[in-house]
Amino acid sequence: MARFAYVNGRFERHGDASVHIEDRGYQFADGVYEVVTIFGGDFVDEVGHLARLKRSLGELRIPMPFTEAVLKLVMRELVRRNGVRDGYLYMQITRGVAPRDFKFPKSARSAIVMTTRRQIFTSAMPGDAGVRVISVPDIRWVRRDIKSVGLLAQVLAKQAAADAGAFEAWMVDADGFVTEGSSSNAWIVTRDGVLVTRQADSSILHGITGNSLEKLAGEAGIRVERRPFTLAEAYEAREAFVSSATTFCLSVTEIDGKPVANGHPGELSRSLRRHYFDYGRTRQDRPFSWPK
Ligand code: PLP
Repeated sequence: MARFAYVNGRFERHGDASVHIEDRGYQFADGVYEVVTIFGGDFVDEVGHLARLKRSLGELRIPMPFTEAVLKLVMRELVRRNGVRDGYLYMQITRGVAPRDFKFPKSARSAIVMTTRRQIFTSAMPGDAGVRVISVPDIRWVRRDIKSVGLLAQVLAKQAAADAGAFEAWMVDADGFVTEGSSSNAWIVTRDGVLVTRQADSSILHGITGNSLEKLAGEAGIRVERRPFTLAEAYEAREAFVSSATTFCLSVTEIDGKPVANGHPGELSRSLRRHYFDYGRTRQDRPFSWPK
């Protein structure tokens, strides 16, 4: 376990760290979060993660607890104190502590918590086998572009996947189109070799990892289409994969019990995983702009 957590201005022993029972994150899921990969002691795609954090906070009218410069200092200090070379930083910002009332409190200060977790990364697929996914109805609210801590629908989806012996659940909207995974973005490669993933509107969370994968694919001359795809299209795909800060790019070899192509990790997703791994290791953070 990590030694320290950062809680509202203090580095506390992880095992003793706690927040107030009237924190609005706890009572209303009135808060947002980010997960940033740590590679070689530094952050991958920090620019994008902080841009999304500020956007999520702005959409909910939650003030940043302090300036971005201070936030970055705290992130680095926690990583240093916990001696993390490779792993993740989790941060959560809520509207703060106030007597329970739905309306925004007049005088609460944003509350912030950060933790880290160690992880050994490898450019090979875990087990070199890819992962299985199942599909479930997408029962979430309509502002999925906000990285809200209200994750109950995703908890249920991930548990359904686990119960079915799968790694991830792909959520499907009322029109039969895949939105995304419970904690990852969903991708397919068509028979013509085109990468397809859903456009970054309010129907999905705009993945920072997927954003970088899209740029890496574009640089390699691979066509990327941002559009919805159906489950039927996914069953027929040449390849499928998921992306997130915790999985990078991970081949999907089975959807709803049906093998994707020959049931082995696809060439393109394997190669994208290697590229993303090198990109993370060399920390070539790119400028980040929110899609129009
Ligand atoms: N979609 C959802 C619902 C997620 O929870 C996540 C990550 O947690 C992602 C997509 C991928 O986002 P990122 O690549 O920024 O980790």
